[in-house]
Amino acid sequence: MKLLIIANWKMNPQSLQEAKRIFDSIKRGVRNIKNVEVVICPPFIFMPSVGRQTPNVKIGAQNVFWEEKGAYTGEISPEMLKNSGCQYVIVGHSERRKYFTETDEIVNKKLKKIIETKLIPVLCIGETQEERNKVKTETILKRQIELVLKEVSGLKFQASRLCIAYEPIWAIGTGKPCDVEEAQKIGLLIRKIISKLYSRPISQKLRILYGGSVNSKNAAGYIKEARLQGLLVGGASLKAKEFIKIVRVVS
Ligand code: PEP
Repeated sequence: MKLLIIANWKMNPQSLQEAKRIFDSIKRGVRNIKNVEVVICPPFIFMPSVGRQTPNVKIGAQNVFWEEKGAYTGEISPEMLKNSGCQYVIVGHSERRKYFTETDEIVNKKLKKIIETKLIPVLCIGETQEERNKVKTETILKRQIELVLKEVSGLKFQASRLCIAYEPIWAIGTGKPCDVEEAQKIGLLIRKIISKLYSRPISQKLRILYGGSVNSKNAAGYIKEARLQGLLVGGASLKAKEFIKIVRVVS
């Protein structure tokens, strides 16, 4: 299975011209890297025109709505994403949970629709600093996974497609990444939770990613030492040179 390096551009950059420039540079920079799948998640408005996908550079979305169509002003459906060539969808990002009060129940609805539409979900989970201080990380992650995967049918067939990104909230955009050993422990914990919920073979198939202040200096540790299957990169993914370096050091 290929490593997965996802660029979450969030609400950046401010013009299509700049988006195209970053996209093109990344595409050129990773052109010869075959063992990594790079997924660029631009804002919706740039998705159709940011550039063409290649065998190793795909387009993903930062969010999606759970209904198929209809009177939902301002929303984007899974089918629209699929029809515009998008393959991956980030779901449950902590910024959406914080600013748009997305609950685990909402994330569950979205996840089901993403799976039904045969898009690849990148499910984000993670604890706050306060929860971590209270040594509640394990409980929080377990609860998030259980609620979000509730009644997710067909997981047997989708398990190898499901990606879970451990994104500790205290590490996102703070410049304070999680220790490699801690990320490794959490990776094993996630597999254990999935194994109990479903089965061991299923838990072995899914890809587990780390996200939170990843840069070209710390990236390799999460893949080569912690043995995770990918990274979710925010800030550093908008600097083409730095992002290319991240992809190179893990490849
Ligand atoms: C993110 O937004 O998912 C993220 C990990 O951001 P950053 O890399 O900037 O911490």
